[in-house]
Amino acid sequence: MSESDLPEISKPVRRDTTSVLLVCPHCLETDRHQASAWQQINLEGVFVVAPTVTYGVVCQSCQGAFYFRPKAAEQAWPSGPTMDVECPNCARTVATQISVVRDDDLPLRPEDCEACNSQFEVYPDGKTELVSAPSSGPLTERGLKAIKFFESVTFDPNGARDWPFTTEVEQLVTVAWLHEFEDGTLQFMDADQEPPQVYSPRLTPDALEQFCEANIEAYRGFHDIHEAALDRRESVPMVTFWE
Ligand SMILES: [Zn+2]
Ligand SMILES: [Zn+2]
Repeated sequence: MSESDLPEISKPVRRDTTSVLLVCPHCLETDRHQASAWQQINLEGVFVVAPTVTYGVVCQSCQGAFYFRPKAAEQAWPSGPTMDVECPNCARTVATQISVVRDDDLPLRPEDCEACNSQFEVYPDGKTELVSAPSSGPLTERGLKAIKFFESVTFDPNGARDWPFTTEVEQLVTVAWLHEFEDGTLQFMDADQEPPQVYSPRLTPDALEQFCEANIEAYRGFHDIHEAALDRRESVPMVTFWE
């Protein structure tokens, strides 16, 4: 391979860039390269952006050679790992991470506010633009609960001791998840199906444990019959055997 055949990569650098992260085009490893390694070119210890300047780089991982051509960064992101901006919805201060957008010279960064759940865009000069905002407090809370409803509830590590039969049923009906309702009641469901399949009545945790204990043979039998399909995570509806 002649030198001119070496791959060339380009990356934005700023006036005061003393090191860059480069992805090796041969092995795709990322390494940090110091400007001071090219003393002949980088007389001031920073990378030079000029049409005639390319840097010959040897990958620290695979020893493959390539060229690095700096180009002038266009976005004026400030230095430092984060920038404090004001949430355009609730005016709280949000510390937004800017290392990546600065490194990649991106024009904006999407951010969300943990206080009010709004989503907005952050620009290099600190300006923000609202993308979406929850319309009101009560709605937000209801929205959050709706999301929570569809999330599976993971039993704590002591669950097997506290709720042995509920835990066993959870293992037997692998396709169903234990859903927690707003009022704290629980139900085994497969919400991926339309309509959702249910695998237990909706009960308080104590009552569900008693139900699972009383009906454990029904669940064990269901598992024995459908074991292969359940292992393949196929939907297996359960015939309701409770009132
Ligand atoms: Zn490499
Ligand atoms: Zn906010």
